[in-house]
Amino acid sequence: MSVHRIVVVGGGAGGLELVTRLGDKYGRGKDVQITLVDRSLSHIWKPLLHEVAAGVMDTATHQLSYVAQANWHHFEFAAGEMIGLDREARTVRLAAVPAAADEGEGDLLPERTLPYDTLVLAIGSTTNFFGVPGAQENTIALDTVEQAERFRRRLMAACVRAQNAAQAPALDVAPAGPPAVAGDGDGAAAGQAAGQAVEARPASSASSVQTGNAHHPKVNLVIVGAGATGVELSAELRNTAEVLRSYGLKLDPRKDVGITIIESSPRILKALPERVSGAVAGLLGKLDVDILCGDSVAEVRKNEVATTSGKVLPADITVWSAGITAPAVLGTLGLAVNRLNQIEVLPTLQSKTDPDIFAFGDCASCEWSEHGFVPPRAQAAHQQASFLVKAIDARLKGRALPTFTYRDFGSLVSLGRFSAVGNLMGGLIGGSMFIEGLFARVMYTSLYRMHVAALHGVWRMLLDTVANRLRRSTVPRVKLH
Ligand SMILES: Cc1cc2nc3c(=O)[nH]c(=O)nc-3n(C[C@H](O)[C@H](O)[C@H](O)COP(=O)(O)OP(=O)(O)OC[C@H]3O[C@@H](n4cnc5c(N)ncnc54)[C@H](O)[C@@H]3O)c2cc1C
Repeated sequence: MSVHRIVVVGGGAGGLELVTRLGDKYGRGKDVQITLVDRSLSHIWKPLLHEVAAGVMDTATHQLSYVAQANWHHFEFAAGEMIGLDREARTVRLAAVPAAADEGEGDLLPERTLPYDTLVLAIGSTTNFFGVPGAQENTIALDTVEQAERFRRRLMAACVRAQNAAQAPALDVAPAGPPAVAGDGDGAAAGQAAGQAVEARPASSASSVQTGNAHHPKVNLVIVGAGATGVELSAELRNTAEVLRSYGLKLDPRKDVGITIIESSPRILKALPERVSGAVAGLLGKLDVDILCGDSVAEVRKNEVATTSGKVLPADITVWSAGITAPAVLGTLGLAVNRLNQIEVLPTLQSKTDPDIFAFGDCASCEWSEHGFVPPRAQAAHQQASFLVKAIDARLKGRALPTFTYRDFGSLVSLGRFSAVGNLMGGLIGGSMFIEGLFARVMYTSLYRMHVAALHGVWRMLLDTVANRLRRSTVPRVKLH
């Protein structure tokens, strides 16, 4: 019998769990060859990226080398970005891997093709800028470790510059505050617009957007999009500002570091129940995070964000977390895709166009009974990876494929060390249950622990947890360099 070649493209939340389990199951035998393709050399669980951006998560500790994981779990790793597909010849085309500046001349690996018998696409999603002028050029997205690290470095630099400017003699520095917020023209209109936009702000908070407070923050951070990513990032940034103060930064972490979230919907976390959204808005208010709902971004310029209602917010750094789309390459493969470029799959997770190709996670569009489509979440990618282990086993044995059913266990939103809020779903608790505080925080961190357990087993996950706890007591609470 000839070897069956399984190629999984994308070693993210779903893909790496899948190849690890397939490798454990078949990798030591001679009949099945498993290869993981990724454009990066190491994996980090994407839901950690906002913590990387805020500096509270050190990537060196949490990144996992694909080569090492392949060695431990009996699969091959091929580095390279998938740039094409020949469905007749059943080959995937990988771009050349360029060498870094200090790695000598020429590419590290040339452009090449990789043959497959079963192909699984799990290349995730990328930021959707919705064609807003200046958004791509003047904002930072949180799709990759490099982007998250770039944000962190810019945040540190902005704080240092602001501190330096505040300490410099008055004549040496540019006029103190950032540009005033342009409202709707006159005071009454501006006040009205602000009233509509603000949710749950305590009267004492320092806001340049809603309250017209005379104090102008020295560092202005604007987050576009109040989904889980934007909301979680805002809380982590407030924590970072407070930690930096404790390490000697001479800025008031509340008044001098302004954090504003802009959201086009009438409320934050629109995909989650109103109770969760309301509770999170209340907590963000207490953290002096300004929330501007019901307004959209019209244009992003170098140091400011203009909204459709006419406001102009000063922005030293703008993060774009307003939506996702699947990578453009998926639209070029000759497979059926939806308007977001996600591959349309059957309940077996096979492409509707080609039964030898499976797709899952954020890059796939999979119907979910009466709810529409399976949401782009790590939870879904994890469930689909487990399902595909069974489906691929059935395919190898020539049996009919099972069908995937998504089970929603609820949603949790972490506000870092301040709190967590969410709803748990499930038959055992008889529907939906609102949770908040320590219990929600424990449930939230257990999602990552489950991912680590899927990659390394339960014992190593426990060791990893203890090791990280110990390490935390010997390093700064925020990555400073
Ligand atoms: C900041 C943030 C916070 C989040 N928080 C949560 C949360 O709390 N809970 C939750 O359920 N979900 C959360 N999500 C969403 C979650 O991260 C995704 O739904 C999940 O990672 C999707 O898994 P995936 O395997 O489909 O893709 P990914 O995990 O994105 O992995 C895709 C992989 O494909 C690789 N790749 C991409 N293109 C190519 C190519 N052309 N060739 C080769 N390799 C390629 C990438 O390098 C990556 O390794 C969050 C997302 C972000 C950004």
